[in-house]
Amino acid sequence: AREAAFQAQKMEAIGQLTGGVAHDFNNLLMAILGSLDLLRKRLPSEARTDRLIDNASQAAQRGASLIQRMLAFARRQALTLTPVDVAALIEGMSELLDHSLGGAVKVRTEFPTALRPVLADPNQLELAVLNLAVNARDAMPIGGEVVIAGREENLSKPRGALPPGPYVLLSVSDTGTGMDKGTLARATEPFFTTKGVGKGTGLGLSMVQGTVEQLGGALLIDSAEGLGTTIELWLPVAAATDVTPDEPLKAPVLAEV
Ligand code: ADP
Repeated sequence: AREAAFQAQKMEAIGQLTGGVAHDFNNLLMAILGSLDLLRKRLPSEARTDRLIDNASQAAQRGASLIQRMLAFARRQALTLTPVDVAALIEGMSELLDHSLGGAVKVRTEFPTALRPVLADPNQLELAVLNLAVNARDAMPIGGEVVIAGREENLSKPRGALPPGPYVLLSVSDTGTGMDKGTLARATEPFFTTKGVGKGTGLGLSMVQGTVEQLGGALLIDSAEGLGTTIELWLPVAAATDVTPDEPLKAPVLAEV
């Protein structure tokens, strides 16, 4: 199960990186093409320079069309959104979590009240929780308890990027090392890791954040050095009209490019 989760994580990372990098790359190519156009206008026309500029311009255009194809590919990997009962999802992960975390770290769940469903891809959400739980374990080298808790929160005014409304607040807490200021500032950056070569990919938190933001939610970090860390996933409660779809809703991985 661990290997499968790792592979799925890798594929998802590649998809997201393709999207993000392709977008930046496209902007660069557009800047190159624009500059070449200006050069063409400003330099006195001469057969040899004209040909060099044409070559450069054609290469940049080929690059741009390659990027368009990569983006089209990334967009095809659609998410399957369906109403998810977060407490049931976590319940269903108990074996996977025990297995993935090992003996010294125990998982406790706290879902005091029934939660309304959120619209999510259940596999992606599981992967997100697994990532957070593994980070929590890594932060507690001598063992301890990971608490996975869920409750509903109603925002009456915007909080950061979150619009007002009802949310399921799913949190994963540990009593581990916590993060220093520098780590906290960079924790969700792709490829940022403090775990050393071959141990961390630095993709976990950035992917979890990507997953949650795709659902219209947010990832918040509360961490104190030496005390522990809580990662909060704010997930919008599904609208009543979303709850009984005839078919799962499809949303593109890259909403806009
Ligand atoms: P990775 O786990 O591969 O390093 P992540 O993106 O998941 O990549 O995490 C980035 C960094 O954030 C970690 O290397 C670690 O320094 C820090 N971090 C993440 N979760 C925790 C946690 N629960 N406690 C302390 N530090 C954490």
